[in-house]
Amino acid sequence: MEPPLDRSTTWPYVDGEPGPFHYARNAHPAGVEAERALGELEGGEALLFPSGMGATTAVVLTLLEPGRTIALARDAYYGTGVLLTELERWGLEHVLFDQTGPPPSGADLVWIEAPSNPLLTMPDFAAAAAHTGLVLCDATAATPINVRPLERGCDLVLHSATKYLGGHHDVLLGAVVAKSSDHAASLLEFRTRSGIVAAPDPAWLLLRGLRTLEERVRRQGESAAELAGRLQGHPQTTTVRYPGFGGLISFDVADGASARRVETSTRRIVNATSLGGVVSTMESRHRWEGDRVPAGLLRLSVGLEPVEELWADLEGALEKA
Ligand code: PLP
Repeated sequence: MEPPLDRSTTWPYVDGEPGPFHYARNAHPAGVEAERALGELEGGEALLFPSGMGATTAVVLTLLEPGRTIALARDAYYGTGVLLTELERWGLEHVLFDQTGPPPSGADLVWIEAPSNPLLTMPDFAAAAAHTGLVLCDATAATPINVRPLERGCDLVLHSATKYLGGHHDVLLGAVVAKSSDHAASLLEFRTRSGIVAAPDPAWLLLRGLRTLEERVRRQGESAAELAGRLQGHPQTTTVRYPGFGGLISFDVADGASARRVETSTRRIVNATSLGGVVSTMESRHRWEGDRVPAGLLRLSVGLEPVEELWADLEGALEKA
């Protein structure tokens, strides 16, 4: 019933010629099968990478060249900006913009995020699609259950599959889904040459995760909507951000010290980084992102626990704020 996991790195030639699988850096069965499943969900051609950041690296090095400019949503995942700053050494420029409006003209690649992590803004898809450059949407937090960016005019979708797609806190993986076969072919060629290749085990775990993606994401979304509403009315919260779907909420308490007390006071919700898994996690993001985010901001990734247990846990922790 479950597909076998083939960890081979090499396969016998067929009548003296390479068959569909011959060397694992080019392709392996679990990877091809997981890519087929994800491609179907997004409506494009999917390619796996060993992490979300590996996917980002592959996209910019494959589709751009020195002197090209990326327009990056100002509140996109902070690690994306850190990497693009690093790549300035290699001649790639980037400019920041507010993704709720039109991207700056002249950029070669527009990078939006749906919704942004952790401020949870949504991009203006129509304005991005009208731009002359390539458009990529990091839809890690939305998943194809909530948003399918290729249908909203984007050329590429990127996922940290470490999050909702894997869904169980046990796989580090990234993916890019391309609308055009030419882009997919270029990315595949770069991936094979560079060796930024996902191994069979994570690909197999992604396949398992995708089997329950819709049920997990729907339930996490229902619980998150309920919790966001209750947080909104809580006297200790100053701002609550929730885009209306999905399992991520961010909210602010008075200051950094309050946030620390809250994040260390939950019992059911684990004080840990990352998001999108079956176990709820919460952390202050200021420790990683500094003043890009308010000092009192807490990011909550809602898991599959009963919503009343999560609320009791949050209420108890907020009393410590
Ligand atoms: N994109 C988003 C929106 C993320 O939240 C993350 C990680 O938190 C990444 C990309 C990077 O993914 P990974 O940690 O799998 O490299």
